[in-house]
Amino acid sequence: MSIETLEPRLADVGGIPIARLLPNTGKKPIGAWCFLDHAGPAEFGEDESGMQVGRHPHTNLQTFSWMLNGEVLHKDSLGNEQVITKNQVNVMTAGTGLTQGISHTEQSVFPDTGGSADAARGLSMVQLWIALPTDQQIERSFHHYPELPTWREDSVEMILTTGSYTSVSGERYEAPTIQYSKMVGIDVYFVKDGEVTLNLEPGFEYGILVTEGQIESEGKICEQDQLFRFHDSDVANNKSIKLVAKKGTRVMFIGGEPLNNQVLLWWNFVADNKEEIEQSIIDWNNGHERFGNVDSDMKRLPAPELPEGFKG
Ligand code: MN
Repeated sequence: MSIETLEPRLADVGGIPIARLLPNTGKKPIGAWCFLDHAGPAEFGEDESGMQVGRHPHTNLQTFSWMLNGEVLHKDSLGNEQVITKNQVNVMTAGTGLTQGISHTEQSVFPDTGGSADAARGLSMVQLWIALPTDQQIERSFHHYPELPTWREDSVEMILTTGSYTSVSGERYEAPTIQYSKMVGIDVYFVKDGEVTLNLEPGFEYGILVTEGQIESEGKICEQDQLFRFHDSDVANNKSIKLVAKKGTRVMFIGGEPLNNQVLLWWNFVADNKEEIEQSIIDWNNGHERFGNVDSDMKRLPAPELPEGFKG
């Protein structure tokens, strides 16, 4: 199996350091997973407010938040207010097309600002975007998943964050998470030094983000905040992939079927054509009702214009 190791771009989102792994070389999504940020790990002092991301819109995508540490309050234009804590998933669906769209805010919360009594004063969160299939008419929605299928294999604890998965011992797991194309996401945590075998689905594209520690596979090393990308032709010829790691290593294993449509990204917008991105910029910057209102006094973030010659 040939594996490509992708490097992150480092940036700042809402006041904390992030490693961006998608989009990356070639800008090709992994299945419908088209954007991947690892925010943190960060620790905040008593006088720090943590991550503060003001009001902004999304189109033709789902935001998929996977919490490793800390707590974040999500507020959206559908009126949802939801604190997400570790080992939970939030999925916000923007809907498809020019009559859909959604907006939201995300902010760290602590015991004294609306979080749980034992909320950490830190943050480690994987935020992914899932491009929606634009040949489907999809409505905006928000879902919170506090309980997900969890199991133990020899060296690891696994949490199925989305999709279905059959383990090497033949157990089948199904996550409740809403999907519009076939995909899978598994958090893998090494409770001791050892290895794990992950089953692969024919027709899926796959990647692995290391959120803590490092892994080795097929003689290649993937360090924290790097992304392993597997070559599609290899997935067709291999039924599984083996990872070796030390105790305390944690990874996010993602995969999915590629979409039929083109996936263009600009700022917080996804579309299958440039004109729709241009219209979404105009709509958001003019306060169009398709993006609704968030009950929040946080800053409203303006959409930047498309650069000359934008090709996505
Ligand atoms: Mn967002």
